[in-house]
Amino acid sequence: MTKIGLEIHCQLTKLESKLFCSCKANYREFKPNHNICPVCMGLPGSLPRLNQKAVESATSIAMALSCKTPEKIAFFRKNYFYPDLPKNFQITQLNVYGDMSIGGEGYVDVEGAKIKIRRIQLEEDPGRLIYEGESERTKITLVDYNRAGTPLVEIVTDPDFENPRQVRVFLNILSDLLKNLGVSEPGLEGAMRADGNVSIEGGNKVEIKNIGSFHDLEKALHFEITRQESLSERDIEIVQETRHWDDRRKITVSSRSKEEDQDYRYFLENDIPWVKISQETRDSLMKNLPESISSKKERFVEKFDIAPQVADILASDKYYSDLFENAHSDSDAKDIANLITTDLMGFVDTKEKREESKLTSQHLSDLIAAINDKTLTRTSSKTALQEIVKSGKSVKELLIEMDLGQVSDSSEIENIIMQVFEEEKQAVLDAKENPETVNYLVGKVMQKTKGKADPTQTLELIKSKLG
Ligand SMILES: [Zn+2]
Repeated sequence: MTKIGLEIHCQLTKLESKLFCSCKANYREFKPNHNICPVCMGLPGSLPRLNQKAVESATSIAMALSCKTPEKIAFFRKNYFYPDLPKNFQITQLNVYGDMSIGGEGYVDVEGAKIKIRRIQLEEDPGRLIYEGESERTKITLVDYNRAGTPLVEIVTDPDFENPRQVRVFLNILSDLLKNLGVSEPGLEGAMRADGNVSIEGGNKVEIKNIGSFHDLEKALHFEITRQESLSERDIEIVQETRHWDDRRKITVSSRSKEEDQDYRYFLENDIPWVKISQETRDSLMKNLPESISSKKERFVEKFDIAPQVADILASDKYYSDLFENAHSDSDAKDIANLITTDLMGFVDTKEKREESKLTSQHLSDLIAAINDKTLTRTSSKTALQEIVKSGKSVKELLIEMDLGQVSDSSEIENIIMQVFEEEKQAVLDAKENPETVNYLVGKVMQKTKGKADPTQTLELIKSKLG
């Protein structure tokens, strides 16, 4: 069996300042090395001051992932030398005197599988190394410390994933959750990074580092599983190691640096006192948590009698659930939910299409109202919906402009039925013999009316004419 575990780093991009100083958390808008101060540069004599909002945001993330959150947290120095780390240590967290990191022992429900969250910690991001020029052999490496000290939340899962697809679903859930909480914009370059570990058939665990995007993570995991399977088939031992994802060649390569064997000489960061997070603070953070996807789904099913599969799609996608919540009334909730998950989905299934879409929740309410009072058939509503997404025109305008109004005058439909009977003599005979084939005739009438006739009414009229 394949086992995959993840270590995800997400920046708290919505904060004003860095984790321990007042430099901007949004380092992206600065020229290199223009968003730094003695604290984030680790100059002698400087002292870190903890960003309270960062502690609160990280605690909210932990709570939203159903983690336990401790009363007291502490920070540690993780010592190592690397040019992107100006202090020669990173301020992070460690569970060594009991649980002292922001949260732990949580879980996320991924399509029925329970993915356990082992630990969540708050730490600072290092700076960035920039390799000058195109060639990989460049001798020039530049360092930009603007990012150093940016608040980062590390989320570590148990190896509970069985395949890369589950990983993708989990990451989508996580990034929706971060957006929902208003703590991060996962879409920003570098705002979310992940390492993965993979083992097959109970064999050794291989870590994959250096993955810049979730899309690449999925590819890296696929590659690594295939590599291990092919070794295992040939009875070659899978070495426990760290591998890097080579973005250019799309393969994982063995990493020479043995980071696992490094001794980080963790010790307490005594420049920051232990931090007590009072019950009161935790209660208020808990109270302000947005509704979780699973409770939203439950509410949709129970309150509006929406089918569980439909509620699942709505609840797990913020775009759809916002549209739904703003469009529905108690009486038309089910219809709106179905309209979104059947007709609308095809028109707004990518980020780009959503950004360009002119559709508002008012359009959806108007469409359902028009269908329910029989000004518009269900078939025509799909045509209207496509046009609304493109142009943003009102339902009223489209009924006139596109001539979509429902034909409900039975004499008008009867005339069309007579035309069809005239043209489809064999089909009429067939339908008399075998009533099941009558739908063919209904289809012809719908075609002639461009979907504007009510199918139920048409069927009744045809049946009565067939005798
Ligand atoms: Zn600073």
